[in-house]
Amino acid sequence: MKKISGTMIPVAILFGTMVSICGQAAGEPPTAMVKYYEPEKIREAVPREPIPAEVRAQFLRPGELLAIQDKFAVAFQPVGTLEWHGRQNPIGCDSIKAERLCMETAQRIGGVVMPPIYFAADAYRDTGNGYGLGMDPVAGFQLPGSFYQIETELLKRFMLNACRNYLARGFRMVVIVSGHNPGLQQNLFDEICYMLKTPEGKEPVFFTMEYTAIEKGNPRRSGDHAGGYETSMMLHFHPDRVNSKANEGQKDPNLAISTNFPVEQATAEEGRIRLNLQVEGLSMLVRERYRRLP
Ligand SMILES: [Zn+2]
Repeated sequence: MKKISGTMIPVAILFGTMVSICGQAAGEPPTAMVKYYEPEKIREAVPREPIPAEVRAQFLRPGELLAIQDKFAVAFQPVGTLEWHGRQNPIGCDSIKAERLCMETAQRIGGVVMPPIYFAADAYRDTGNGYGLGMDPVAGFQLPGSFYQIETELLKRFMLNACRNYLARGFRMVVIVSGHNPGLQQNLFDEICYMLKTPEGKEPVFFTMEYTAIEKGNPRRSGDHAGGYETSMMLHFHPDRVNSKANEGQKDPNLAISTNFPVEQATAEEGRIRLNLQVEGLSMLVRERYRRLP
């Protein structure tokens, strides 16, 4: 008999409890679960499946995910907003642009697309009506649908954590694509890429805005806020979700729209052309960055 905390317990019962906890057969030494990803163990436990047409992570089975990672171990992370994009566009415009670009690029060159993120960084400013975020001070009041506000520090920690998770379980590179384009967003994600750079100079995380994926010098390498460009993209992706008549008869038809490409000139064809240029540019950038990884 063994004495634990003053109670007498038969040794056989105590031993039996230990066996069921560890899941070990009697006589075998207990093995510890390690704290890192074990590709060899996984190779035995999960047979590869054929690479599917689907590229979105949430729809993949583990055997498909592994088959994609074997070939091109890149995780695409679309980021954008839920934000006012004029009366005519859906509020998820920025994330929709980023996700679609990531999906078409992954279908072309390989990789997996993570679910989009709808929180983002933006600037606070006062244009004469008091301080506001993003397009609010331009309107002079808080716009409906702009739910993307988050503490910049919290977003930074969240993104660092997400990237580390992807890199710890089979991905060699993370490509973050933002459809939300303020300078602050660019700076934040550049810093995240820098923080995840290794001391030896390896850069496993790469960031780009969706429109800067287009090659330099092309006049279509430009963005806007809810203007002719973003409306063209929405007309291409989800024509049923654009209301081209929404601004008609309004006192301020261009309320909190920032562009030099008039909304009325937006077409689905322009959206198609821009997306193709972006997919082409992003495919080249990602392939080149992937090759650069040691
Ligand atoms: Zn936008």
